[in-house]
Amino acid sequence: MVDLKGQYAKIKDQVDQSVLDVIASSAFINGPEVHAFQKELEEYLDVKHVIPCANGTDALQIAMMGLGLKPGDEVITADFTFAATVEVIALLQLTPVLVDVEKDSFNIDPEAIRKAITPKTKAIVPVHLFGQCANMDAIQEIAKAHNLYVIEDNAQAIGASYTFADGSVKKAGGIGHVASTSFFPSKNLGCYGDGGAIFTNDDDLAHTIRGIVNHGMYKRYHHDVVGVNSRLDSIQATILRAKLPNLDAYNAARQMTAYKYTEAFKGSDKIITPKTTQLCGKPEKGGCNCHVYHQYTLRVVNVDRDALVQHLNDNGIPCGVYYPIPLHLQKAYKDDRYNEADFPVTNQLVKEVISLPMHTELEDDQIAFITKTVLDFVNG
Ligand SMILES: *Cc1c(COP(=O)(O)O)cnc(C)c1O
Repeated sequence: MVDLKGQYAKIKDQVDQSVLDVIASSAFINGPEVHAFQKELEEYLDVKHVIPCANGTDALQIAMMGLGLKPGDEVITADFTFAATVEVIALLQLTPVLVDVEKDSFNIDPEAIRKAITPKTKAIVPVHLFGQCANMDAIQEIAKAHNLYVIEDNAQAIGASYTFADGSVKKAGGIGHVASTSFFPSKNLGCYGDGGAIFTNDDDLAHTIRGIVNHGMYKRYHHDVVGVNSRLDSIQATILRAKLPNLDAYNAARQMTAYKYTEAFKGSDKIITPKTTQLCGKPEKGGCNCHVYHQYTLRVVNVDRDALVQHLNDNGIPCGVYYPIPLHLQKAYKDDRYNEADFPVTNQLVKEVISLPMHTELEDDQIAFITKTVLDFVNG
């Protein structure tokens, strides 16, 4: 699914040297590399504050802690996403309220959000799934109207941008009150271990969060709030510093691969290729970043999806099903309040989706082999 070795080979000299330099410096925790990365990412994202932490799941949890959400507060998020999002809501004893998604974008459905709002609702967590922003025009409007926090789960869309109806453009993660991201190795900006970060433009919230990630300390050995220990280490930070200047090029390579996949599948009536919800032409370097293709996810109709997975695997092609089970049907997150009739899209998508190999190093002959193998199967 990903080719981390191939990507590493292209930046090996720089990465190796900077890792050796960190080791020589012995500044492993909170060292200058972490601060430098923080500043560089703030500049790249055009957000006031980046607070690095240990992983993307922590980042979500800490964002919610920073907002002061309390047990019983309801937090609305998508039924069709990675479990981390709902996991931290539940861990903090907030009440997760899962809602359905849109068929075309796979992202949280604003109408479903509207219907789920109660007097207890405190926050919405849009997940920018597979590399494309949720409908932030509608979500920001709903949040304003109901006085709700917007926490963007930006683990899959770093580097993506969103163009609002009024023409203004913001980077994913710089739109809501606070956002989280992950530097897990396979993400669009991945380190060589675990890492994550929280972003916000709110000075007070940034201050609160900086204490929370460090045991609730704002002054050494004075613990004002219950915090956690969640840090990005200097070795990961120096690797991320080497990769950040390449992020736009990495995303452009993903977009080019997506474009080639989509072209190859154009004639098939059994394959629905991923839709960009915003205008996006042929990706050019520095062009439209409305979708950064963390995953390239097809829907197949009148095709046995699981047999297609098997066929691809038999031909040595890795593929993934993200996600095979709706969160509202997971044992850990089942709730009597949910009604199957409220999740028609998620219940359909889990049967139809398949994600093809997507990374920065895919060659044309590989793309041709993958698309031919998929088409041979669906055309039977
Ligand atoms: C990867 C991911 C996370 C969690 O990130 P980790 O760094 O693995 O903890 C959270 N949300 C989404 C949508 C993700 O894809």
